[in-house]
Amino acid sequence: MKKTTGMDRAVTRKWRPATRAVRGGTWRSEHGETSEALFLSSGYTYDDAQTVADRFAGEAEGMTYSRLQNPTVAMLEERIALLEGAEACRAQASGMAAMTAALLCQLSAGDHVVGARAAFGSCRWLLDHLCPRFGIEVSVIDSTENAAWEAAIRLNTKVFFFETPANPTLDVVDLAFVCGLARAHGITTVVDNAFATSALQRPLEFGADVVAYSATKLMDGQGRVLAGAVCGSAEFINDVLLPFQRNTGPNISPFNAWVVHKGLETLSLRAHKQSENALELGRFIEPRVPRILHPGLPSHPRHELALKQMDATGSIFAFDVGSRAKAFAILDALELVDISNNIGDSRSLMCHPASTTHAGMSEEARAEMGVTEGLLRINIGLEDPQDLIEDLDQALRSAGF
Ligand SMILES: *Cc1c(COP(=O)(O)O)cnc(C)c1O
Repeated sequence: MKKTTGMDRAVTRKWRPATRAVRGGTWRSEHGETSEALFLSSGYTYDDAQTVADRFAGEAEGMTYSRLQNPTVAMLEERIALLEGAEACRAQASGMAAMTAALLCQLSAGDHVVGARAAFGSCRWLLDHLCPRFGIEVSVIDSTENAAWEAAIRLNTKVFFFETPANPTLDVVDLAFVCGLARAHGITTVVDNAFATSALQRPLEFGADVVAYSATKLMDGQGRVLAGAVCGSAEFINDVLLPFQRNTGPNISPFNAWVVHKGLETLSLRAHKQSENALELGRFIEPRVPRILHPGLPSHPRHELALKQMDATGSIFAFDVGSRAKAFAILDALELVDISNNIGDSRSLMCHPASTTHAGMSEEARAEMGVTEGLLRINIGLEDPQDLIEDLDQALRSAGF
């Protein structure tokens, strides 16, 4: 394998984000392929016994086994790290593999985690069910209240864990405040940045320590594969995450890594265009429904903060139509937008979180985090916004809005 400049930090750190997205994290084989190669190999062979001994001893670079390294996966990791502005990144099989690894690699029995109340259903499951089983204490708070973060800190608080914007209520967390508070107390912040991605928001610039991803969403962007990633300092990734990851094996398949790697080349274009389309649709829907939650609209309680910490406000928003019956009536009337619980896709997709992504939670927990029976979440894609407006117009009208 020929290391191109795409794997050379001395060169890539001078590149601007758009160049990093298409040329960063590229290794070429002896064939000189333009598009990065897909290495579907679980193991590797060696010219002599000393070579493999040196690699296992960490004294020589090179592949040994695909649970430890794989060239295609390494290219993806380097490209994500470059876009994030992170020293290092490791890819995982899914967003939830990434969240689980990011938390469990650093937590032990007796530690305390403060987590955001509004979160993806499985992220809440990690806090509500998994952590307590291993003796890890958890406090779940309203992440939009700066004072609540401060009040939740205990002597054994080790990690702050949150999403911003959050799934599906679009709660926006004050990154500079919360990350600064954590730093002052020696607490590690783990930010789930799936809704924004590095194209729209880079938490490390606000003092976050670890950024974790579902790369299934905007990074792939075309609804093809499951993928995840954890980014942070070289010290955190190599000394804290890697021992956990290499021995527990939440690895991404090289094929899925390759798909996401190619998706990253267009991530910024898609994220910005989808944000623009989402804002147009949000403005259209706002006067028609009782409540809309969209950080790009001035009606959002943290609109100003969102504009301060995000380059654009993302492809996803939610709106409340008052009841499950009305929400289902709108979903069933859609002709162009699909009923689907995925997000970040180039197609527009709508779902009813209370009966899908957040169905596993108690009704009480749902109500507390604002996932009401009438809430609909929509991901706006790359279709012509006028076609989407016409579809939503007829669907809303048919449900009496
Ligand atoms: C989808 C999602 C996840 C989980 O990712 P998977 O790739 O589905 O495992 C985690 N956090 C957020 C905010 C998500 O939207």
